[in-house]
Amino acid sequence: MSTEVAPERDVLASRLAYLTVGVPTVGTVAAVVYAVFDGLWLSDVLLFVGMYLITALGVEAGLHRYFSHRSFDASGPVKMFLGVAGSMAAQGPIVFWVANHRLHHAFADTDRDRAEGNRRCGITALAPKSIRRPVMVSRTDVSH
Ligand SMILES: [Zn+2]
Repeated sequence: MSTEVAPERDVLASRLAYLTVGVPTVGTVAAVVYAVFDGLWLSDVLLFVGMYLITALGVEAGLHRYFSHRSFDASGPVKMFLGVAGSMAAQGPIVFWVANHRLHHAFADTDRDRAEGNRRCGITALAPKSIRRPVMVSRTDVSH
């Protein structure tokens, strides 16, 4: 007999998740349409590459390695840069991202790991990370 309790759905978090996925998607489509009708300039491409690198650094080094795992120490300005750069990826507030990521590690390879569940459905890249209310896990629960 399993003692696991089904996670509670959080309607507001779910709507926010769809908003954080939907707005950048609409912006991307609008940018492509704009480029088709107005042309593409070198400055557009350089801006795209620069912003992509900044947000990727913000998510990987900031949200993941620094805020979720505390893998390294950072000074105040570096912390601020990583937080802003990670937030530019529109993946939700930092605390929310960290809680979901820690859940992912705490429940890896179980039905409660929503990343695994989304992967099984084949929609990992499209599925919002915040369908379920996060459950607090202690820092000692996550080691990688
Ligand atoms: Zn991790």
